[in-house]
Amino acid sequence: MSRATTSARGRTHGHRVRLGLTIVTIGLALLTVASTVLAWGYQFQIADASRYNGTFDLNQATVELLRLEAELDAVRHGNGADAARLRYAILRNRTAILRSGDAMSMLTAYPTQTAAFGRFNDIVDGLQPLIDQLPRQEAAQSALAILKPFDNKLVQLASLSNVATGDVVAKNQKQLEQIFIASCLVTMTLVAFGALLLTFVFRQNRHLVRVANTDTLTGLGNRFAFNAALARADDDVEQAVALLDVDHFKLLNDSLGHDAGDLFLVELSKRLAAVADEAELVARLGGDEFALFFCGPSARERAVHACEKIGASMATPIALQDRDLTASVSIGVGFKTREDAPDSASLLKDADIALYGSKAAGRACYRVFDPTMKQKLLRRQRLQDDLALAVAAGELALAFQPIIDLSTDRLGGFEALLRWRHPELGFVSPAEFIPVAEESQQIEMLGRWVLTEACRQAAGWPSHLSVAVNVSARQLTDECFPMFVAENLNRFGIRPRMLEIEITESVLIENDEQTLRVLQALRDLGVRISLDDFGTGYSSLSYLRRFTFDKIKIDQSFVRSAANDESSGAIIATICALAARLHLDIVAEGIETAAHLDFVREAGCRFGQGYLFDKPLSVADCAARIIADRLEDPAQRSDGPSFARAG
Ligand code: C2E
Ligand code: MG
Ligand code: MG
Repeated sequence: MSRATTSARGRTHGHRVRLGLTIVTIGLALLTVASTVLAWGYQFQIADASRYNGTFDLNQATVELLRLEAELDAVRHGNGADAARLRYAILRNRTAILRSGDAMSMLTAYPTQTAAFGRFNDIVDGLQPLIDQLPRQEAAQSALAILKPFDNKLVQLASLSNVATGDVVAKNQKQLEQIFIASCLVTMTLVAFGALLLTFVFRQNRHLVRVANTDTLTGLGNRFAFNAALARADDDVEQAVALLDVDHFKLLNDSLGHDAGDLFLVELSKRLAAVADEAELVARLGGDEFALFFCGPSARERAVHACEKIGASMATPIALQDRDLTASVSIGVGFKTREDAPDSASLLKDADIALYGSKAAGRACYRVFDPTMKQKLLRRQRLQDDLALAVAAGELALAFQPIIDLSTDRLGGFEALLRWRHPELGFVSPAEFIPVAEESQQIEMLGRWVLTEACRQAAGWPSHLSVAVNVSARQLTDECFPMFVAENLNRFGIRPRMLEIEITESVLIENDEQTLRVLQALRDLGVRISLDDFGTGYSSLSYLRRFTFDKIKIDQSFVRSAANDESSGAIIATICALAARLHLDIVAEGIETAAHLDFVREAGCRFGQGYLFDKPLSVADCAARIIADRLEDPAQRSDGPSFARAG
């Protein structure tokens, strides 16, 4: 299943969950509001029923009737009429309240009784003339006779009203009970829903933490997880970090495509996880960079053991879709003992320095950090910083090493070699600072300076001499470089054939189309291209097929060992024969002794370069050397060539 489909499904699922949660929340909220409003209403009804019901008014009216009757009875026995009049007024007031109130509405189920109450009302109202006649005993007697029949009826009405009110309260209570049950259900649902929500949130949280800590491509831990593991580790235990980089991964990615690159990383990560099973964590920090963390007793030894196992496992090709790919990795190990202060930053930095060391040692290996590595790196950083100012400060100069035509023993040309006299560090070898410049991209600026200075000097030389300039790979990725060369040739009036561009095999390793185009453009200008340090690479011969060179320079290591190593001698002889077949000029580098010279001459080398003839010369010595060579011209001197000047 593709990652796009998975993420689309994830989105739909998330959308559904959100919709479900919203609907449930709204439903529960509505239920809660409804039950609260209902409970509120019923509660009011119950309160009303208990406080302001008609039963109370009826009871009061009954009591007032009995009190009036008692006062009328007293008048009948000769007492005053004031109390009876007051009671009559109160009774009328009571009956008026009963008439206007809703006491009777509750008694609709008892029509006879309510009709009797209607009559009672009229009778009470009609009693006024008799009350006015009080204290006449006959009037009291008559009023009593009229009222007495209603005693029982009013009591009966009051008790009926009581029953009706009870019924209302009971009904309301029943409904309240239902509301209470509904509220309980809502509350329980809310609790269950809350628990569900919490579970969901915790699960989501766990999922998010897992995603945040996982590398999406390989499923290994990512940089975040790695840093967390370092931070979590106990301070007083041994720790080791192995940083791993795939060699030339960019090349793999560019040539096979990014999908193949991704597949390679996935397969590699599986292999790492299987091999480095003792590691606390295997993580992909990004790109082609992996890290292994070891923690606890003998962490360093376990890291080294893992490095060895990884190195051995890389011998087996990694199977991609349609091919098996052999690749190598470089590893750097940083470590801390139990006693060292906890400092995960320096642990990583040490591993990084060691990784740098393994790359400098030719890759496909591992290096364990040691303090001298740090010093080397610091020096390298210093060189890099100071190099930026070296041209302007006039610290750079060119030395010119003669190249001798072995057929005539005469000067054939010079190789321009860059020199840097650092104000504090003294003479720094180009073998040291050129790689620094290459890495920091300062080589383009330096290379242009070298080319201009070499042309400036060569402009003053006899036109049969050549000037060879070393050019780094990065300079040849610059499409404008041929134009820059042409400008300099014009500026100093130099014939293009006088200039030789020396490149090493590393330039062609990546088989970059652009590099080949730039080289061809230079050749089209008429500039000669020579292959330097020939024989040191993995597939030197194959480079001769990739580009048409003008010259090969046999690496000095062959010349040095030719006298006592048969195979080196055979290699030189074979290279010379090959060069002759391909009509290439050939130069033997590093001729230090007469024996070297005899050997390369016999092998068929046309040109030679080395301390036997001259060391690289300053501009002034170079001029003197040219003059001396002229003097050796048979037309000017007749005593023939000699090489007594070595040193
Ligand atoms: P290379 O181009 O192979 O230059 C030859 C190196 O061998 C020079 O070292 C030279 O001094 C040394 N050499 C010559 N004859 C002998 C000999 O008989 N015995 C021994 N032991 N060595 C000899 P140098 O000048 O230190 O340069 C080292 C390398 O630095 C050069 O190797 C070249 O790759 C690089 N380099 C020098 N100048 C430049 C430059 O301007 N640009 C670039 N890109 N690289 C440069
Ligand atoms: Mg060279
Ligand atoms: Mg060389």
